[in-house]
Amino acid sequence: MDEPGTDHVNWCPSGDAHRPESLVLGVRSGEHGNVVYLDAPVPAADVLPSIPEGIAPGRVLRFASHCTSACANRVGDDCGLIRRIQTLPAPRDSGPVPRCHLRPRCKWWNQTGVDACHRCPALATLNSADDRLAELVADPATTVEQLESWIAEAERTK
Ligand code: SF4
Repeated sequence: MDEPGTDHVNWCPSGDAHRPESLVLGVRSGEHGNVVYLDAPVPAADVLPSIPEGIAPGRVLRFASHCTSACANRVGDDCGLIRRIQTLPAPRDSGPVPRCHLRPRCKWWNQTGVDACHRCPALATLNSADDRLAELVADPATTVEQLESWIAEAERTK
């Protein structure tokens, strides 16, 4: 198995479930769908067949796969997705970060450090929290300035 830490590439913690190297990073659980991280990587190919037809794998699991230069979120060597996520208000809980088998090779960790780890578990919950905001964050065409402006306007009209 191609485990994080035994190769020399950065891994994406918001990865594609269907790539050959894909691993299960964690399980979405609870009312808000926050991610509970697995202690050890499990090949995505081992669990995908057990997900019922009609359910998108990303609705129940988070996957990790290689960070590739072809990703629409790449901005030079950086990940634009975690940059946009960092534009959102910081999570209230900034205590210890969860154990995560991906961390040593995680693109987000390597780019931003522990701030990404605080935000990572709730990433999947953005959709239920605010659809328009989630769309903007997910869209590689959205600039940090546009996001900041949208958030400021939303705060102003609350
Ligand atoms: S650029 Fe970001 S979103 Fe794209 S593969 Fe790399 S870590 Fe994942």
